[in-house]
Amino acid sequence: MSKFIIALDGPSGSGKSTIANILSKKLNISYLNTGSMYRALTLYFLENGIKNEDQIDLNFLKNIKIDINEDRVFLNEKDVSEEIRNKIVTENVSWVSSIPLVRKYLVDLQRKISENKSIILDGRDIGTVVFPNAKYKFFLVASSEVRAKRRYEQNEIDKSLEEIQKDIEKRDYIDSHREISPLKKAKDAIEIDSSNLTIDETIDEILRKMDREDVL
Ligand code: C5P
Repeated sequence: MSKFIIALDGPSGSGKSTIANILSKKLNISYLNTGSMYRALTLYFLENGIKNEDQIDLNFLKNIKIDINEDRVFLNEKDVSEEIRNKIVTENVSWVSSIPLVRKYLVDLQRKISENKSIILDGRDIGTVVFPNAKYKFFLVASSEVRAKRRYEQNEIDKSLEEIQKDIEKRDYIDSHREISPLKKAKDAIEIDSSNLTIDETIDEILRKMDREDVL
């Protein structure tokens, strides 16, 4: 079987990580959640009082070890998989991910991790910047109401439905208006609106758009 890359982009809460995780198992390929990498770096910045772009350079970033193994995320060997989902990280990640040097460092790492394998990556800029030549590109969207409701039902956050929706809209705005690698659908990406689809229906829709030889 020849190797291929699936780029799965879209806004927060559109279901990318759930879909990518299941798809990777169905297709027996690797999975990389790139948002986890931005979150891990954000946690490091918070823990080490990095509040300003001037405090970092590429050498500094290269000394921060980020490893991803299946769905576990390690920061300098420590498992931070739960911590990176907390409120303070979520509130600061958009700032950290808007720093050009951070993006350069993490995009290089994402390309390296993806070498010589079939893999699905989820994020915001996979189809536009990280792998503009990916064989498959999908852009997953859903209304902010639906996305907020999904988050609310996951019971992960101690916030009202309205607050969650506001947070999601704010993050969408920052992610799609930043100067470098904004959240944007690649011209050749297939858009899938999952507002009225179940997880299984969304996955079927993606599989239908793929070549038979990659799906079997
Ligand atoms: O996917 P998740 O919501 O965990 O991503 C957290 C944040 O990381 C996003 O809001 C965005 O600011 C940033 N991100 C990014 N580029 C990616 C993946 C995530 O800028 N490829």
